[in-house]
Amino acid sequence: DPACAAPLAVLGRDVTVPLVTGGEVTYAALDYAASAPALQRVWDDVAGYAPYYGSVHRGAGYLSQLSTDLFENSRDTVAEFLDCRPDDQVVFTRSTTDSLNLLASVIPADCQVFVFETEHHASLLPWESTHAAGRRGSDARVTYLNAPRTPAQAVRTLQRALAERAAPGQEGYGPALVCVTGASNVTGELWPVKELAAVAHAHGARIVLDAAQLAPHHPVSVQELDVDWVAFSGHKLYAPFGSGVLAGRADWLRDAEPYLAGGGASRKVARRADGGVDVDWHTTAARHEAGSPNVIGVYSIASACKALTEAGFDNLLAREQRLVAKVRGGLAEVAEVKVLSLFGDDSPSRSAGGTPTRVGVISFVVEGWNSSHFAAALSAEYGIGVRDGLFCAHPLVRTLLGGDGQDPGECGAPEAEPGERSLNAIRVSFGAGTPDEHVERFVGAVK
Ligand code: PMP
Repeated sequence: DPACAAPLAVLGRDVTVPLVTGGEVTYAALDYAASAPALQRVWDDVAGYAPYYGSVHRGAGYLSQLSTDLFENSRDTVAEFLDCRPDDQVVFTRSTTDSLNLLASVIPADCQVFVFETEHHASLLPWESTHAAGRRGSDARVTYLNAPRTPAQAVRTLQRALAERAAPGQEGYGPALVCVTGASNVTGELWPVKELAAVAHAHGARIVLDAAQLAPHHPVSVQELDVDWVAFSGHKLYAPFGSGVLAGRADWLRDAEPYLAGGGASRKVARRADGGVDVDWHTTAARHEAGSPNVIGVYSIASACKALTEAGFDNLLAREQRLVAKVRGGLAEVAEVKVLSLFGDDSPSRSAGGTPTRVGVISFVVEGWNSSHFAAALSAEYGIGVRDGLFCAHPLVRTLLGGDGQDPGECGAPEAEPGERSLNAIRVSFGAGTPDEHVERFVGAVK
């Protein structure tokens, strides 16, 4: 299977785990949506660089210079991977959550934010956080949009919401930002990002794409989608070394207070005559990257970007769609299983243009089963690692489950009686390097 071979081979394929039933089995990592395994290529690149590790932007020595080059060249690699505009900035962060909190702290003080209630908490919550408000010096005006039941309805909902804004020249007209996910971390369904971006721009708003679940599965072109910013995490993109990206328009980033104050973000610091301190902050991405940066994390993201590009998303997508069909087909044969879908269980797996409509992320409930117990049994009896809960998207999962969901992370999940509604869900997710045997074992175990 060429897609499983280098350069998309992943680590951990041969890890064995004990079973409660006795014996052991190779671990089936089917929780890529939480954190994907490292690509072998990423691991090799990081190991190759490790002896040369040095401080970035801080030393005159050879290894410091080499590390600085590696760090700065990684920006170009990410810009290329995302097909950024020439004057976009690529800021390295810790994660998607960090990237969106950074953006929330740099939006103009009078910015109005539009976000669907279906978003992951990382894209739902930063806009009203007091941290971000404190940094930008204003409370946000956030409009939460109701869950749409089709992609077309999502576009219409945004259109209507933005149309209610004051028009240019009218009193109350100001900057606006739309935040939307590219692929749902719950249903795996793709959102109509290009159409939403067109609507946003037609109404003078900007748009940020949460590509945490999209970028590992699908090419993301800032220019083609015409989005203003993109955020993603390294650990979901096969680069698990604690780094993330916010890439896009430079102006709001350049005009705002630095995300963190400290060395690296400041160009010049001098005492004033009155005893205070004057700071001249960088206007480049460094403005928001104070402190010694995570060069290994950043380099590993660049390495993953290169590996995915070289392997070709066409290969990755074709293979993944085959696995998606296998899992969905298998689950459809089990009467007690209900697959969660916002845009409709029967929605086609390909759009009219032939593009897949979902990635390898599938959530479901099993009638009469508590999802946490089900997931625990998959692990203990079959060596299969999946996730259970509300997936940090509580409003969405509650909508899909039709009531009050409960996340085992926050409260003990009570037993569901046969015929009773589940209070949380099970999520299976996969991607590059997932062998057929893993998804076949999973479908067999569910059955
Ligand atoms: N957005 C989406 C759609 C996600 O799935 C996740 C992670 N589950 C995040 C944002 C947050 O990513 P991170 O935890 O790496 O910050």
